[in-house]
Order: sequence, then C-alpha cells, then structure tokens
Amino acid sequence: MLNIILMGPPGAGKGTAATWIKEDFSLPHISTGDMFREAMASGSELGKQIKDIVDAGGLVSDELTVALVKERLSRKDCENGYLLDGFPRTLAQAEALKEMGKEIGRAPSVAINLSCPDEVLISRVTTRRVCPKCGASYNIITLKPVKEGICDHCGSSLIQRKDDNEASFRVRLENYYASTAPLLDYYKKEGILHEFDGTLPLSNVKVELTAFLRSLL
Ligand code: AMP
Repeated sequence: MLNIILMGPPGAGKGTAATWIKEDFSLPHISTGDMFREAMASGSELGKQIKDIVDAGGLVSDELTVALVKERLSRKDCENGYLLDGFPRTLAQAEALKEMGKEIGRAPSVAINLSCPDEVLISRVTTRRVCPKCGASYNIITLKPVKEGICDHCGSSLIQRKDDNEASFRVRLENYYASTAPLLDYYKKEGILHEFDGTLPLSNVKVELTAFLRSLL
C-alpha cells in the first residue's frame, strides 16, 4: 500500500508531482495548503482565522493542522493509500502523524523529497500560476497551459497565489529550513526517505518517480 508523504521546499515541484501521482496511482491527494486555501475562499471561521498567517507565508498552528489532517485521513477513501502533500511540516506534526498512523492503521510508508536549490525555487514560485479549482500547477515560462490562463484539466481560470510573492516566499523558505528540513533526518532514521532531484526536467522527474513508486507495489 502506498501511504505517501511528499516533501520539498516551496517551488520544488510537489504540486506538479502530486497531480501525476494521484492520477497514476488513484490516491486521494491531501494537500493541507489546498485545504487552507479552500477554507479561506469559503470565508469559514477557520479561513478567517488563518488568512493573515497564510498570506504572509507563516505556518498555521500544529493543533489546527493536525486536527484537519486527522479528520481527513480517517475517511474511507484513505484506506487503500493516500498522498500527503505539505504535511507534516514540523516535528510535532510528524509525531502526530505517527500517532494517528498507529491509531487508525495508516502510518506513512514512503517519504519522497524533491530537492532544489534556493535560486531555482524563487524564480519558479514567482512565475507559478495555479488552478483554484483542481489545484493543478503551471508556470508562465516552463509549464504553460495549452490555452493561456486556462487550466488544461478543468477549464478554470488560473490565478497567482497571494503568497507567491518574494516577501512571503522568503518567510516560507525560512520556515522550511527551520521547521521542515529537519524532518528529512527524521524520515531517514525511520528508513522511508527517498530523494529525487527536483531541478531535473519535469518529464525526467516523472519517469523516475513513477518507476520508483511502481517498484513498491
Ligand atoms: P502550500 O500550498 O503547501 O505551499 O501551503 C500554503 C500555506 O498553507 C503555507 O505557507 C502555510 O501557511 C499553510 N500550510 C500548509 N500546510 C501546512 C502545515 N502542514 N502546517 C502549517 N501550515 C501549513
């Protein structure tokens, strides 16, 4: 069973890789970033509570994030595997995931890290466009949609994320190095970490990643 954690700094290609993986392996895609963006768009209590933090590139509290993921992972569609994207991001979240894995029998089985140097990340993030409806990621230079400004998958108008500006990106990168990068060691010790080079052309990353995941089935 594939219980996947997708890791990497902002702009490493997690969203794009998630699009292939969820389709090729029929896994529910659980992106905490997408869940938070949906909450903000709907104007719910949770959305109002987190808006300023997310827009500035900060991290939402572990308590809120863990509760959201626990509820989502407990649903029936995760019983045959899942793809976690953007979670865990802190040691406390990784420990909570371990605990919920034991509780509901859905512990992560593989952690994939897409590595990428900072200078590549900043240029990718500021030229990224995303689909607010299905979450697909594009790039106005390297990964254009067939029709400008329109999602290839669902036909919605593409947008630029509010936190995809240089100031918010710097905060996200700092948070990544301070809170999330240490998780690479954590999953290395657990024996489930696999590294991929996120600077390679997307088609190469896709071939390598898909072959690797197939070898686990
Ligand atoms: P992402 O789409 O993964 O880049 O996430 C967008 C934003 O949502 C992040 O910059 C955080 O503000 C928030 N967020 C997403 N996932 C988490 C998480 N696991 N813990 C805390 N905040 C998160």
